[in-house]
Amino acid sequence: MRVCGWVIRRAQVGRVLIIEVSSSSSVKPCVLVFKPEREPDLYNVARNIDVGFALCFEGRVAEEQKSKRGVEYTVEKLEVYAKPTEPLPVDTSGKTPVLLDTRLKYRWLLARKPEERAIFRVRAGVIKAAREYFEENGFIEVHTPKIVAAGAEGGATLFKVQYFESEAYLSQSPQLYKQMLVASFEKVYEITPYFRAEKFNTTRHLNESWGIDVEQGFISGVEDVMKTLEELVAFIVNYVSRNYRDELEALGVESLRLTTPFKRLKFTEVVDILRSEGLDVREDEDLSDLAERKLGEIMAEKKHPVYFIVGFPWPSTAFYYMREENSIYTRKFDLDFMGLEIASGGQREHRYEKLVEAIRDKGLNPENYSFYLEAFKYGMPPHGGFGLGVERLLMKILNLENIREAVFFVRDRTRIVP
Ligand code: ATP
Ligand code: MG
Repeated sequence: MRVCGWVIRRAQVGRVLIIEVSSSSSVKPCVLVFKPEREPDLYNVARNIDVGFALCFEGRVAEEQKSKRGVEYTVEKLEVYAKPTEPLPVDTSGKTPVLLDTRLKYRWLLARKPEERAIFRVRAGVIKAAREYFEENGFIEVHTPKIVAAGAEGGATLFKVQYFESEAYLSQSPQLYKQMLVASFEKVYEITPYFRAEKFNTTRHLNESWGIDVEQGFISGVEDVMKTLEELVAFIVNYVSRNYRDELEALGVESLRLTTPFKRLKFTEVVDILRSEGLDVREDEDLSDLAERKLGEIMAEKKHPVYFIVGFPWPSTAFYYMREENSIYTRKFDLDFMGLEIASGGQREHRYEKLVEAIRDKGLNPENYSFYLEAFKYGMPPHGGFGLGVERLLMKILNLENIREAVFFVRDRTRIVP
């Protein structure tokens, strides 16, 4: 067996030399044990190896396992590929704690450490699970443009880019394009970046984040879309609990099992619940961060870590959500995970005339959306979908305090390098 990786610790215990290697194969390090009398030649090579070296080894899992930190190996072959040209700027052994700012600067290096590595292994697992779910359930993966002429949600959070002679924007969501594709595919999904010039610097917003987006046609109502989302989230969470035990253990988090259906709360019910708790909530506005968190506490007590809020009021939503007849409410829902919104979605307005009316009602100009509106003229089926935030989901699965911990290279108000 050949394993490659980086040295994160070196220790001499009496005559025994121990070298810990962080490799791609597992979250736990490989613990290489060298004894001068057993492998004199290798021992002499290993003696000169230190933290930060990149190496490969061939060997066998040792019969006797004494290390609590990783799996012990006896080595038969050792090849050094690179050594640091200067001391490492951060401690990859985990002995010295690292401040968040430094962590974010050196994440690519700190990912040699089991706890940091675990986050990114689980992140990859979330994406892998999502793809598996979609492939098993008849969705096709699509890719939509990231340079766009119109924003999905209006101007406030758009990043401008110079596009030759004209102005364009970075895509804040694949919303309009994924809907257009329901004119030719029944079920589509995209795993995509969102670019948003969020005004506030918070622990749950990034300026470049990733979403798992879905749009599905031929639905009989918003419930069909909610079913897809709850099945997907339960599948991902349970997949991580099943396949990433070492990672969860390295991070000291308990694994969670989710069963469907998730609890559904009407927006109006949520208003009543929160008012009875003394919060000032309006019937025609989105929930505040505080209200979301309070509801999370109430739902956690009732053993509902994940729950839907459905039927948001029209003044709080984007134009493309379907409205209930003669009502201020829409078929928009949120999915919240212990007090944090992780997804938004709903049934869309697929009737051309009503959609044009809705765009006007939001004070937008239908002409700016003509490329999108055209897709509704030639047999657009009833449809709906959602956007599920990858970092928000990961935050909740791994109990991370700050969304920045869920990405390698953070884009926020103050970070554009590395
Ligand atoms: P919020 O109200 O929390 O700012 P939003 O309602 O504006 O989020 P949506 O447009 O509904 O966000 O996007 C779908 C999902 O994408 C969200 O539920 C969230 O999980 C994720 N998301 C959106 N914006 C961000 C962001 N700036 N940083 C990280 N994740 C985001
Ligand atoms: Mg939302």
